[in-house]
Amino acid sequence: MEGELITTLQKRGFVFQSYQIYGGLSGFFDLGPLGVKLKNNLIDSFRDFFLKDENLKIYEIESRLLVPEILLKASGHLNGFFDPIVECKSCKSVFRADHLIEEELGIFVEGKTIEEINNIIKEKNLKCKCGGEFSDVKIFKLLFESKLGVKQENVYLRPETAQNIFVNFLNIVNSMRVNLPFGIMQIGYSFRNEISPRQFLIRLREFTQIEIEFFFNPEKTYEQFNTILKNKIPVYTREEQEKKSNKVEIFTIEELIDQKILPNNIFGYFLVREFEFYKFIGIPENSLRFRHLLKEETPFYSKGNLDLEIKFDFGWKEVVGNAYRSDYDLKQHSKFSNKEIFIVEEGKKIVPHVIEPSFGIERTLYAIFQHSFKKDNREWYFFKFKPRIAPIKVSIFPLVKKDGLDEVAKKIYKDLKNYFDCIYEEKDSIGKRYARADEIGIPFAITIDYQTLEDNTVTIRNRDNSQQFRVKIEELKSTLQKLLLS
Ligand code: AMP
Repeated sequence: MEGELITTLQKRGFVFQSYQIYGGLSGFFDLGPLGVKLKNNLIDSFRDFFLKDENLKIYEIESRLLVPEILLKASGHLNGFFDPIVECKSCKSVFRADHLIEEELGIFVEGKTIEEINNIIKEKNLKCKCGGEFSDVKIFKLLFESKLGVKQENVYLRPETAQNIFVNFLNIVNSMRVNLPFGIMQIGYSFRNEISPRQFLIRLREFTQIEIEFFFNPEKTYEQFNTILKNKIPVYTREEQEKKSNKVEIFTIEELIDQKILPNNIFGYFLVREFEFYKFIGIPENSLRFRHLLKEETPFYSKGNLDLEIKFDFGWKEVVGNAYRSDYDLKQHSKFSNKEIFIVEEGKKIVPHVIEPSFGIERTLYAIFQHSFKKDNREWYFFKFKPRIAPIKVSIFPLVKKDGLDEVAKKIYKDLKNYFDCIYEEKDSIGKRYARADEIGIPFAITIDYQTLEDNTVTIRNRDNSQQFRVKIEELKSTLQKLLLS
């Protein structure tokens, strides 16, 4: 299935390996025409979900990919953003030491120091597959570095979009007349020099993030977020992880706050909205869970971390990281820039706290691809994309290319393409055209047949059940508009 999926994505213009004609570059993928449309639709529905939410008041910004060294000193990335690696002394292969220990020994080393990781390898006498001994553990920096201008100052490709948000905090406060609570969001590329890119779109060296920093006064309670206290979400607790069971339990947000798994109702609000969003874009409920990060995985400044994980063919994987980062980042940037960063509330200067959901777009696309890829009763593969995100919404087919059916069909196409992404096709049998449209996940097909010439009606065929119903041509646009909302 996985092989078929990747072949179809390439064959039908969704995803291509980057620089393929030169043999490809590991950890980079390009989007083809249908991939771009799907990504844009995904981002549009994300904006509908989060930016139009009255309770959230989120402002979107766009900032730069190159960042100066001082920003990464302040954020801690310059010295702290690395992976531990080991080299086999005999075959010279390089491995991520933490992954090696997890995979070979089943020991979880997140949060352990380089020395501790080194000791585990020595004590357990871990050897390379070729039988060779490993070198001492070294650090490998994940930042891509470059030089700026004639002065050759150090600059870096940003490893996340979040820091550019913190350094724009004062700009938003001063230009947008905001009150707490409010959020700043950014959609854009991030870069990490991953040692072993793998699993297709899962671990990339260049990827798209959507990050929201949601600022609030920690001394206040915000009633508007209480509407979700009784909502239920699936949680993979620390206890179950320690038992190495896969059991997921359902909790209300209220219970999670009582048990101190969630720091407050704002955090709960985001988890509920994320859960709704991922269901809306087509991920089944039983393939979604929130993993409470273990103590050792949680940074010292964090007051709560839960990842939204999705079940893929190869297992569960983080797709959204959620963290309560307190006032850590604003204070760090204040210290390194020598500028006071605050917002005035009721005459008092406040450094707000922040909750950060961080979405990975390529991982989300991959989840959509995997969960929408189905076989029909003729054993043909097709994408069951939700109409709202499907790259092409409607296909328009004359039953045959004669007797004026094609003329009517072309006229309908000319009109509808002003409103929806449509395609017109007249070649091959109608069955073949339906199959091609299904394969790229077009949710609705309009067919113009002989009855159209008599009563001005056409058929709309639903991709998911092949059922058809007739609609008057003048009602096509409004009918489709309704159908495409889901
Ligand atoms: P992080 O800042 O590591 O918590 O990452 C936030 C989100 O970005 C993750 O949940 C992923 O969805 C995505 N992400 C992080 N690293 C990568 C990567 N190497 N390739 C693709 N997506 C990534």
